[in-house]
Amino acid sequence: MQNKTVLRIAVQKSGRLYEDSVKLLKECGIDLRNVKDRLKTVSENFPLEVFFLRDDDIPEYVEDGVADIGIVGQNVLGEKGRQVKLVESLGFGKCRLSIAIPKNMEYDGVSTLQGKRIATSYPTLVKDFLSKHNVQASIHEISGSVEIAPGIGLADVVADLVSSGGTLFMNGLKEVETILDSQAVLVSNNKLDQERMAILEKLLFRIRSVKRANKSKYVLLNAPNDQLEKIISLLPGMRSPTVLPLAESGWSSVHCVLSEEEFWDKIEQLKAAGAEGILVVPIEKMIL
Ligand code: ATP
Ligand code: ZN
Repeated sequence: MQNKTVLRIAVQKSGRLYEDSVKLLKECGIDLRNVKDRLKTVSENFPLEVFFLRDDDIPEYVEDGVADIGIVGQNVLGEKGRQVKLVESLGFGKCRLSIAIPKNMEYDGVSTLQGKRIATSYPTLVKDFLSKHNVQASIHEISGSVEIAPGIGLADVVADLVSSGGTLFMNGLKEVETILDSQAVLVSNNKLDQERMAILEKLLFRIRSVKRANKSKYVLLNAPNDQLEKIISLLPGMRSPTVLPLAESGWSSVHCVLSEEEFWDKIEQLKAAGAEGILVVPIEKMIL
């Protein structure tokens, strides 16, 4: 088994993307043992080697080919400007890079930022945003705890990552502009050889099946036969819904897959159409 080609993936060593990245690989059926506190690990059942790194370094490692692929936030990718290929959005690590100002400061559009001192860990993205809006401001790059900068007099405003907004609120700041919407993405080196490309394709097939499943629910419901046609017309299906007779005459059991976005709307419509005993179950994998 020696010298077998493996695909090398870089994921965050610890932090907000770590858990979801490892969970995704596990959901793809990739066995990763003794993950914690290790620099790297090789899967026993899939040709994948995992490197655990600081997220800021991942684009560079992938560009240089030290790792073949990586999982990183679009915010880091945009800031670093490395030449890597964006392969797939992963649907976790969602956040936005926003401008936030002290809550009592008046705000009258981006021009309000003219001449201000902006603290951020994302100088490149902030500079691009300001120049797009013809605003001159001085950027103070700091590597962490950006939200406290106005409070200690280091800056007038901040450009920081926000998800719920709770941290900003606790520091007396309000969000006024979104510079970038971000989530975790899978990136790859631009020149993967064929063998590694084939492993990536295999991995991608699994990732897409997991993503699809996470976005979908399996729904089982009971329907009176005289409403069956109407209920079926409300439902999408992988092909069409499954319809089975119930022991009680005049009733059927209908099974289908619903996506998360349309889920609640559909359930309401189904109930209104006479559906009863609706069961909703998670789907582990969805292979098309
Ligand atoms: P590292 O030690 O790897 O450099 P870090 O401190 O730079 O870690 P984390 O705070 O763990 O990074 O965030 C990693 C990524 O998680 C961010 O770059 C971003 O893509 C994503 N993220 C999602 N929500 C948030 C949020 N509310 N605040 C910060 N990052 C978030
Ligand atoms: Zn970082």
